[in-house]
Amino acid sequence: MDADDFELGADFAAERDAADPLAHLADRFYDPDDEWYVDGNSLGLLSADAEDALDRAVSEWKDLAIRGWTDADPPWFHYGERLGDRLAPLVGASEDEVVVANSTTVNIHTLVGTFYDRAEGTKIVVDDLDFPTDHYAVRAQLRQRGADPDEALTVVESRDGRTIEEDDVIDALDDDTALVFLPSVLYRSGQLLDVERITEAAHDRGILAGFDLAHSVGAVPHDLSRTGVDFAVWCSYKYLNAGPGAIAGLYVNEDHFGLRPALAGWWGHEKETQFEMNPTYTPAETAGAYQIGTIPILSSAPLAGSLEIFEAAGEATDSGATDAADASAAAAAGIEAVREKSLRLTAYLMFLVDERLPECEVGTPRDPERRGGHVAVEHPEAYRVGEALKERGVVADFRPPNVVRICPSPLYTGYEDVWEVVEQLKQVVENREYEEYETRGGGVT
Ligand SMILES: *Cc1c(COP(=O)(O)O)cnc(C)c1O
Repeated sequence: MDADDFELGADFAAERDAADPLAHLADRFYDPDDEWYVDGNSLGLLSADAEDALDRAVSEWKDLAIRGWTDADPPWFHYGERLGDRLAPLVGASEDEVVVANSTTVNIHTLVGTFYDRAEGTKIVVDDLDFPTDHYAVRAQLRQRGADPDEALTVVESRDGRTIEEDDVIDALDDDTALVFLPSVLYRSGQLLDVERITEAAHDRGILAGFDLAHSVGAVPHDLSRTGVDFAVWCSYKYLNAGPGAIAGLYVNEDHFGLRPALAGWWGHEKETQFEMNPTYTPAETAGAYQIGTIPILSSAPLAGSLEIFEAAGEATDSGATDAADASAAAAAGIEAVREKSLRLTAYLMFLVDERLPECEVGTPRDPERRGGHVAVEHPEAYRVGEALKERGVVADFRPPNVVRICPSPLYTGYEDVWEVVEQLKQVVENREYEEYETRGGGVT
């Protein structure tokens, strides 16, 4: 869809919402009143489905107590695996290749550690626009293996401060590279990297490829198995809307089943014999091996509800999936429909910024193949612009030095919301309302 298809007026937005096959899904979310929430790439909203799933887990705890491990639906003992089964269609993997466990940062530790141990070379390729925790964890893993991170880390530099060129990543791969570990979508500019191209280039050189999908899972479909990605991690509280600090997810290609996880724990033990309480550890023959300790059921249950909405998104399309038996097909169709809507919303947002906000610049790639689910709107006073937006009821976020990230999360954001957000932004910027706010201090943004 190019800019020519869009019109500037608010009535155009209303028409688009009326024609949107996913529009009804917004009713399932709690959207704070009198507010435009465009921060779903930091923390997705609560849905009634997620709330119900959490309530159900609490009731099961109340009614079943310890018996919940075997008698809850699904039994808590296999809860991580069952959620993994349901996430698999969203990332294009087989059920055994996906599990939910730990936090994203912990999963980076265990997977980067495991795959580094397995790989031939000594160096890890990352990029200089990464989310900080990824580098903290990778550096710590290198140090634990006696390597000096300043030497063992090859950091691909951005040419423009916004994006990373895949060519530069590929040029950075050499005979001594063990693995490349990159985000699918850069958290600030929203650039979507070419996962397939990077993976193929790595494999051609005998290098392993892992990705952090935190900013793409639930917004962008993936094809991890077919592409042969070796491992991936992601969190569930952004586009997956599973709640603050919700359990994270991970993928390990089946070619790597049977490796010894760097961080071992009894929850990753082969399930059949876990309760034999053997002093030696036998890892599960699936991605389940990367679980560590007991699954936090109360931080996992909301995800079970959230995934129903992705399945409903598939049912709202012509996928042919109509019942629970087709849940996996529905989820696969759902994420495609979500992506289609997301691309339209972000294209519309960029069109309005271009046309109505000459003071701002879009820092996100225009090519649909190269962008994720949010748009980086750049302004020299971005921090204060963000503060003024808050006062006007627009919940976006600021990322240093000059970015206001706007995320029209496709399950609950419509075209009219996007129109309104740009209208508010226009008032703030044109009237220099941001000048009434202090320059930046600390705190969570
Ligand atoms: C959000 C995010 C994380 C968060 O990690 P936690 O362990 O959940 O705090 C990690 N990496 C990236 C790229 C992210 O966007």
